[in-house]
Amino acid sequence: MLTEENKEEAEEKTEEARIVHYGSEIKKDDLVSIKDDLLKMYELMKIDSELSEIDETIGDLPELIENKKTKLDELAQKIKEHDQEIGELLAEQKHLIDKNEKIKAKANKYDEQKYSARSNKEYDTIVKSIDTGLELIEKNEIRIDEIDDLVGELQNSKRLLSENQLELSKELQEKEKMLDEVNSEYSEEKNNFIAQRNTLFSQLDKKFQTSYDKINKRHKGEALAIVRNGNCMGCFNSIPPQTTLEIKASTKIYNCHSCGRILIDESLVSN
Ligand SMILES: [Zn+2]
Repeated sequence: MLTEENKEEAEEKTEEARIVHYGSEIKKDDLVSIKDDLLKMYELMKIDSELSEIDETIGDLPELIENKKTKLDELAQKIKEHDQEIGELLAEQKHLIDKNEKIKAKANKYDEQKYSARSNKEYDTIVKSIDTGLELIEKNEIRIDEIDDLVGELQNSKRLLSENQLELSKELQEKEKMLDEVNSEYSEEKNNFIAQRNTLFSQLDKKFQTSYDKINKRHKGEALAIVRNGNCMGCFNSIPPQTTLEIKASTKIYNCHSCGRILIDESLVSN
């Protein structure tokens, strides 16, 4: 059951729902002119439009630079891994070469000893040792050759990576130079606009600040749209005649129900 209070609340909600299409930051009975705030927001929009243009000029350079840096880090890591692998393989190879030298020396010694063998059994044992040694040398040599191939492949791959790295470094330098140039060209201008914006923004009624910023995020530098001949000039959607009159009266904020921009009557801006 609705109490009198609940009824009133419900009616208020219906009223809110009715005007929600055009949005409302203030209550329907608050008929104070908000012309000053609208004009402040309009000025704010002009500054945001300049800032947006500067941002567009800088464009995606910072992102491009970051991407190239990431790629360069990845390349450096890969090259490092290649170097490590090459180092390990060469160490293994050196170990095998040394080992073969030792086996050869031993085999030579056995070769001399076999003639002074005191029995056939001793002779056979010596010959068998020499054969085992020679087999091991052969096995090691296969691995030594295999390592030569592997190292060759890795060095080729490393060369390609280094070429990529050099190319990417040059590209990065170019982009960084471009960004530096753009920054030095616009930084003073941008800082001035930001300072102007901060001043103007702080003068704006708090209840409009959030809403302005929200719309400015969506329509960068175009949070407001002029109403001309009953049309929103932001999206060219038509606005009902009664609403057009209400917008002209400037007693509350109306958002275009199509694009969401804050609507401002042309006469307010051209005066
Ligand atoms: Zn619109």
